[in-house]
Amino acid sequence: MPERIDLRSDTVTLPTAAMRHAMASAEVGDDQYGEDPSVNRLQDEVAQLLGVEAALFVPSGTMANQVALRTLTRPGDDVLVPVQAHIVLHETGASSANAGVQFSEIGAGGIFTADDVRAAVKPRGHIVYPPTALLVAENTHNRAGGIVLPPDTLRAALEAARVAGLATYLDGARLLNAAVASGRTAADLAVGFELIGISLSKGLGAPAGSLLAGSRDLIATAHRYRRMLGGAMRQAGILAAAGSHALDHHVARLEVDHANARILAEELLRGDDFTIDLASVQTNIVVLQLVERRGVPDAAAFVGSCRERGVLLNAFGPRTVRAVTHLDVDADACRSAAKVMRAVADGRS
Ligand SMILES: *Cc1c(COP(=O)(O)O)cnc(C)c1O
Repeated sequence: MPERIDLRSDTVTLPTAAMRHAMASAEVGDDQYGEDPSVNRLQDEVAQLLGVEAALFVPSGTMANQVALRTLTRPGDDVLVPVQAHIVLHETGASSANAGVQFSEIGAGGIFTADDVRAAVKPRGHIVYPPTALLVAENTHNRAGGIVLPPDTLRAALEAARVAGLATYLDGARLLNAAVASGRTAADLAVGFELIGISLSKGLGAPAGSLLAGSRDLIATAHRYRRMLGGAMRQAGILAAAGSHALDHHVARLEVDHANARILAEELLRGDDFTIDLASVQTNIVVLQLVERRGVPDAAAFVGSCRERGVLLNAFGPRTVRAVTHLDVDADACRSAAKVMRAVADGRS
C-alpha cells in the first residue's frame, strides 16, 4: 500500500501535538451551568471574531444549522437556500424532521441575487402559499467548489430579504476560508446575518465543534434547541480548547491549503481527462468532472481505483469528484495525488 493521501475532506485532519497539549491542560467545568471557562472563552472569542453579541458551542456544523432553523423558523415555513446546500443535501433529512420546514432553492452555483430572492418569496397570510421565513447562504459554498460569495451580490440579496421581512442565516462552516481567500474579516462577511454558524473541525483542524453566533436574545433561544437536540455538553472545554488553539494558530495558514488546491487543479489540467472550472478554485476545494470519453472511468470507478493507489477522494455525482486540501497534506502530496489521478483517468494504471 503506497502512502495514503486523504483528500476526501478537510474533516480528516488529526489534532496536532500543540493542540492536544492545549486540550490536556484546558480548565473545565459543567457547561450546562455556564461554568466551563474554556467554553466561555471560545464563545467570547467567536462572538468577537464575527462582530456579534454572543455565540454558542455546539458539537457539529449540522447541529449549528439545525439549531438555527429551529430558532428562526416555525414548522411549515418556507426557507430560501442556494442550490446544492449542505442544509438540504448533507443532513440526512434533518431540516424537515427537526424544524419541519420546506426549502426553495434559488440561484445557480451557490450564488443568488436580490432578484432571485424577490422572485422566490411567498407572502405571509396567503391562503395557499407556505410563508417564506428565512434566507440561508453558504460561504464558502461546498458543492460549488468552495467558492466565496461575491460580496456586492450577497449584500443586495440580504437587503431584499430584509425588505421582505425574512430572517437570515449564514452557514459559514468554512467562513474563515472565505475570509482568508478574500482578504476580508470574518465579521465583515457576517454583516447582515442574524445567525452565523462556523465550524472548527474543517480546515481549522479541531477534532470537533462548531459555533452558532448572533444576538444575545437569539442565542438564548438557541440554547434551548441545542439541549432539545441533545447537543448540550458538560466538560466540553477540552474540545473548546482545541477550537481556541485552532483560531490562534490555524487561520492564517488556510492560505497554504488554498495554494495547494490550486496546485492540484493545475496539475490535473495538464492532462485532458478532467474539466475543472479554475475560477471556482478559490479556497481549499477542487470539484472536477471526468470527461465523457471512451476509456475515462466514471466517478465511482475513478474514486475506487484512486483509493487502491492510496489517494482518497469523494464522488459527488456520476462524473463529478471532490478533492479537499487541509492541514495534513502539503504541496508535494497534492502533486503526487495529481499524478495518480491522471494515470487512473487515462487508464495508464
Ligand atoms: C461540513 C459542513 C457542515 C456540517 O458540519 P459537520 O460538523 O460535518 O456536521 C455544514 N455546512 C457546510 C457548508 C459544511 O461544509
